[in-house]
Amino acid sequence: MPVKNPDSKKTSPAVQVDLPPSKHFIGGEWVDPASGSTNGSIDPATEEVHAQIAAGNEADVDAAVQSASAAFQDESWRRMPPAKRARILWRMAELVDENRANLALCESLDTGKTAFDAGKVEIPLVAEIFRYYAGWTTKIEGGVVPLPGNSLGLTLREPVGVCGMITPWNFPMLLASWKVAPALACGNTIILKPSEQTSLTSLWMAKIGTEAGLPAGVFNVVTGSGSAVGTPLVRHPGVNKISFTGSTEVGRMVQRESAETLKRVTLELGGKSPNIIFADANLKAALRGAAAGIFYNKGEVCAAGSRLLVARDVYDEVLEGVAAIADKTTVGHPQGEGTRMGPVCNQDQYEGVLGWMERGSEGGARLIAGGNSLRDEVGGGKGFYVAPTVFADVDPASAIAQEEIFGPVLAVIPFDEPEEALQIAHSTPYGLAAAVWTRDVGRALSMARDLRAGTVWVNAYNLYDPGLPFGGFGESGFGRDLGKDALAAYTETKSVWINLD
Ligand code: NAD
Repeated sequence: MPVKNPDSKKTSPAVQVDLPPSKHFIGGEWVDPASGSTNGSIDPATEEVHAQIAAGNEADVDAAVQSASAAFQDESWRRMPPAKRARILWRMAELVDENRANLALCESLDTGKTAFDAGKVEIPLVAEIFRYYAGWTTKIEGGVVPLPGNSLGLTLREPVGVCGMITPWNFPMLLASWKVAPALACGNTIILKPSEQTSLTSLWMAKIGTEAGLPAGVFNVVTGSGSAVGTPLVRHPGVNKISFTGSTEVGRMVQRESAETLKRVTLELGGKSPNIIFADANLKAALRGAAAGIFYNKGEVCAAGSRLLVARDVYDEVLEGVAAIADKTTVGHPQGEGTRMGPVCNQDQYEGVLGWMERGSEGGARLIAGGNSLRDEVGGGKGFYVAPTVFADVDPASAIAQEEIFGPVLAVIPFDEPEEALQIAHSTPYGLAAAVWTRDVGRALSMARDLRAGTVWVNAYNLYDPGLPFGGFGESGFGRDLGKDALAAYTETKSVWINLD
């Protein structure tokens, strides 16, 4: 059984949390919602409301678009000397660092992720992303193109304009930073709609932007549901670009709705990523990677290594090892000392994951770890706690191997030949990430070349760097966040023909 966290009864966080007002952030100010109402945000550890969030609607979206359009037209932002824009982005990074403890606590209360992961890994990475794009502001260059006759061709990179950003609940501030930082670096203005379940850090991010020197209206946040805020944002004719991270199902709707006004669209969607262990791998490292690949952030990771493909020669050893790690994982209160896995994010997730745990064996798979709720044992009857779960002998065609569970449920599948591993890897419509564990350099490189996925890790899992682009093949979406590639998503190229006669 998973180790119960001894501190799990400490339900009151050690640090007092500083919550943003229950308002939108529009035009550089906190603004009451047009509806006059708020929605409660639930703490997954206690199932109690821990914050009130403004319930946005079409009127709020319209106000935010007006504000962002005016800020874009005004030119003080898009024509700001790039070095000055860089200093603002750098200052945002510093303010994120200075507010790290509170931001991490907000994130932990909203999502159930451990305060440790939020504070040590994710919020520091948010700051790094702002620093990385601060560096790009001064390097967004066009080119010179040879033209026939006495002519000269130039290309100019210009901001796209007003960008609508829609983000999910699993890494609220981190995934928002993947979009906000490059969009700002390029001189765009923004309306961010965070998940209605996890809005706190996005509101703080906009406030931090204003403190760092962003002109009013450059960075707006409207909170509320997908239908009340997301849909009007996607449909609004004043929005030039939509950058969406979320489920494949909603991504399809976003793409359809955006087509009406021909918006530029980036979609970062779901996945069912294969993590492939060959017999010659460093098994100790591979086991750690397999467990971190599925249990980090309770498996609520778009790139989670939810399918573990294992060479038959080391299959039993890997099963034993990964089940042992699952059993030893300390599940507990997300703000408790020593907790390695908190509750899943919400009631739907909790019920969905438990459903998968019940159905997992249907295709003949064997449950070898977890498979149950820990609500009573860990939360004393409250909280969306589930046990890290491993199914062995999973049929690659079964539902548990095909559908995104978005929870700490691992499907282990044996293979004999590398070609078979590739074929299983490619047997879902997704293509977000993959990993290969081997000591054979040739095999590592050929697998990295042949795997159809936006990211391939070799002898690693779940590692991210601001400079390395991230995005999907197939039904995992298109376009790239992070790296230099993200700049392309937030700029238009203008061609200029100059007749020198
Ligand atoms: P979701 O698709 O339900 O919601 C994502 C966002 O879209 C939320 O802000 C939601 O309010 C909004 N939304 C919902 N309906 C909408 C509509 N009709 N129009 C406009 N906006 C709408 O996803 P989720 O449950 O919040 O997040 C989990 C999903 O996100 C998983 O599928 C996961 O794989 C995916 N994800 C992908 C990445 C990536 O980078 N590829 C990263 C994280 C999560």
